[in-house]
Amino acid sequence: MPGLVLQPSRARSPLPPTNRRRPRGAGRPAGLPPRAVERGACHPLGHPAPPGRAPGSHALRPVGTGARAPMTQLHAPSFPVDLAVVGAGMAGQCAALFASQQGLSVAVLGPVGAWAYASGLFDLLGVHPVDQGTRVENPWEAVRALASDLPRHPYTLVSEQDMRTAFDGLLDAFDQAGYPYVHAPEANSDVITSVGTRKRTYCLPTTMWAGVAALRDRVPCLLVDFEGTKDYCARQIVVNASPAWPGLRSVRVRFPGVEGLSELSPEHLARRLDVPACRERLVDVVAAHVGESRAVGLPPILGFEKPLEALADLERRLGVSVFEVPSTPVSVPGLRVHLAFERLLRKRGVTALADRVTRAHVDPEGGFLLHAGDAESRVVVRARSVLLASGRFLGGGLVADRHRVREALFDLPVHQPGSRVDWHRKDLFDPRGHEVNQAGLQVDEGFRPRGPTGSPAFSTLHAAGSILAHQDWMRMKCGSGLAIATAWGAVRSCLGNTPGGKA
Ligand SMILES: Cc1cc2nc3c(=O)[nH]c(=O)nc-3n(C[C@H](O)[C@H](O)[C@H](O)COP(=O)(O)OP(=O)(O)OC[C@H]3O[C@@H](n4cnc5c(N)ncnc54)[C@H](O)[C@@H]3O)c2cc1C
Repeated sequence: MPGLVLQPSRARSPLPPTNRRRPRGAGRPAGLPPRAVERGACHPLGHPAPPGRAPGSHALRPVGTGARAPMTQLHAPSFPVDLAVVGAGMAGQCAALFASQQGLSVAVLGPVGAWAYASGLFDLLGVHPVDQGTRVENPWEAVRALASDLPRHPYTLVSEQDMRTAFDGLLDAFDQAGYPYVHAPEANSDVITSVGTRKRTYCLPTTMWAGVAALRDRVPCLLVDFEGTKDYCARQIVVNASPAWPGLRSVRVRFPGVEGLSELSPEHLARRLDVPACRERLVDVVAAHVGESRAVGLPPILGFEKPLEALADLERRLGVSVFEVPSTPVSVPGLRVHLAFERLLRKRGVTALADRVTRAHVDPEGGFLLHAGDAESRVVVRARSVLLASGRFLGGGLVADRHRVREALFDLPVHQPGSRVDWHRKDLFDPRGHEVNQAGLQVDEGFRPRGPTGSPAFSTLHAAGSILAHQDWMRMKCGSGLAIATAWGAVRSCLGNTPGGKA
């Protein structure tokens, strides 16, 4: 395919049992495929397992730039790591991967989060300038423009070379994990969405790539959906998109082998398409409708384990290009990203704890002690450095009361409008966005959150991802790019290297 940058193909590993640990009593997170989370004791690989009894108590100084938390006695098993990452979203997982690749021992702490809601697309920069709503063709050019247009945007703390290295490193790792991504050289790509709009992004799962070419060239295309599925309607896509794409058609068919089920979930269908015999039966059903179409679009259900193999199988049997259409939650591509990280981090010996960090303390011996879990299943992680990737309001990294926005764990100062009345503009759809969406942590050039005086609050505390101030990732369409680039910069800083400024 012309213009396609493909990551080199490597052997894929099957999914072994996970070492991710869940809080007791918690149900399986909604939307997670059955094999993604299993019960099991936490054995931090590369370190002795946490001792089964309390190692003794420590009188500790609670962390907080304000004096919020009380002095605490710890009575819980603890284990040491070089770096504890708080938050298992995109920024936290990237940071854990990058740090482990650099030889640090790493624990990543936090529940599975919003992966079932994420599209699985990796945006770098889709809209700039945001007040003009300009859709970006070349995201790297736009990133360069940010340096002068928005000099406080977190992208300006990472050199373009480092951003490229971070993206390349992540895509290479995803290729190894069996979930490869592609992008056009130096350009964003448009995909059709499950509501028939066009979404501009930088990196896509390879399973969606044929949809980019089909949309660009307006090739005759058949969109398929299934009786009994909710939240995905091929007919609706055609109604909204066909004025600009006349060769688009839709068909609704019965998914084979699920007779008797009144409702079909995307995870269920994806699990079925991991099985070659199920794919064969699906082809029998769809083939009769292909006609003159040169491409077939499906909801994103081409398996969890080997989506590329499923794609190749369907294309070979149908004799046309096949692609997945990014859809609303539950999003199988988002869950695949989570699974890919799990595989990669497990392989690198990263400890994953699905518990929230409830308290943080300065360790008298240096670094931090993080309390995770509840009274029943508490673990204490003793970390030389901490990387805070706890997200914004949705993830719980930032909390808002009637008066101000707070950082939830360390009580770090949060950049925000002076008064709550300035949080939102009068017009909800004001193209400039709302001030509160730029709230967050201000950091120094080494991604260390600033304390009340403006200097770093702690020498070994770093922050990355959407918790950072001076960005509005939803409007700018830079969510994953922000997570990837700042995780890279923060990890480099943890290693003692200050990320370079813009060339
Ligand atoms: C619905 C949706 C759609 C998206 N679509 C796109 C898209 O199309 N393209 C794109 O590029 N990006 C997209 N993203 C954005 C992207 O996936 C990331 O959400 C974004 O980059 C922010 O990542 P983050 O890791 O900084 O924060 P989050 O994703 O919010 O992750 C923060 C994590 O920290 C955890 N946490 C908070 N406090 C604690 C604590 N005390 N202890 C332990 N854990 C804690 C939270 O539970 C959460 O899992 C989408 C996100 C959502 C939610």
